[in-house]
Amino acid sequence: MTRIGFIGLGRMGLPMVRHLVQAGHAVRACDVSPAAQEAARGTGAEVHATPAEAVADAEFVVSMVPTGRHVLDIHTGPAGTLEGVPAGCTVIDCSTIAVAEARALHEAGRQKGIAVLDAPVSGGVMGAEAGTLTFMVGGAPSDLDRARPILEAMGRNIFHAGAAGNGQAAKICNNLLAGISMIAVSEAYTLAKRLGLDPATMRDIVSTATGSCHALVSYPPVPGLLPNVPSSRGYRNGFAADLMLKDLRLAEGAAMDTGSSLPLGTLAASIYSLFCGAGAGDLDYSGVIRMIEGEETAAAVP
Ligand code: NAD
Repeated sequence: MTRIGFIGLGRMGLPMVRHLVQAGHAVRACDVSPAAQEAARGTGAEVHATPAEAVADAEFVVSMVPTGRHVLDIHTGPAGTLEGVPAGCTVIDCSTIAVAEARALHEAGRQKGIAVLDAPVSGGVMGAEAGTLTFMVGGAPSDLDRARPILEAMGRNIFHAGAAGNGQAAKICNNLLAGISMIAVSEAYTLAKRLGLDPATMRDIVSTATGSCHALVSYPPVPGLLPNVPSSRGYRNGFAADLMLKDLRLAEGAAMDTGSSLPLGTLAASIYSLFCGAGAGDLDYSGVIRMIEGEETAAAVP
């Protein structure tokens, strides 16, 4: 049994805590929101209101909070966890944050002698609930070896992406591609429909041709082509367009930091920004097809 302090009991964190408890670990969980604390009662984790209480004797600290600002406050702020964790503890941040912020956390840990891993995830809420998340991990291989049993309790695929911050680099490059390709696939399905080509027939053909990709084959934005994708349930319970926009903004920031240009990524961010600005930010990002079809408002999304 390993002692784990877990910070952030939201849509992702709560099911991750359940899997850690089921795997036999002693989890002290914390969230600033009373509603999230309430939801965590009954999971088998001890519930606390502050990170300091949750991490006091932890061997591992896992954080799953919205942004890099939250992550740096929690770990490196005046009452941050790096001040309170015992020697030998490993901090694993699973939130999606900027590469530069992740590297700042690694550096703060190094100065205190605390091992840090950036370990953002792919798989969404469904993956968190099923315990099948993919972890993309940046940091020292020996630190990952120690943390592997903890990550394996919550996920199926654990990749070492390289040195500090490279987990976040892998995550934002993946989502850059996913965000752009969803728009491209939406344009192709919309044009096909207007040309009288049945979307199912198009999917069958293109899935064996050079335009094939994940968004077209396995995550189609057109309702009814596959039963278990967000488009077939009114674009609910998927990967929120707001989060896709956040990740594209992180990619834009990384491009600025490295002198790279992302012409398509920048355009994709503008398109999701319009979609979210129309009130559709809670919907799955594949709902962007409705805007491309000419349905400009969230009200047009079923
Ligand atoms: P969420 O908003 O549902 O949950 C975040 C939780 O963190 C909230 O309950 C909030 O109260 C808590 N929190 C914020 N500041 C805190 C603090 N100082 N101390 C303790 N708790 C604090 O968010 P989520 O959907 O669970 O996402 C978490 C992270 O995972 C984000 O970085 C997101 O980009 C990433 N992510 C989300 C998904 C998804 O599908 N939801 C998929 C992949 C990655």
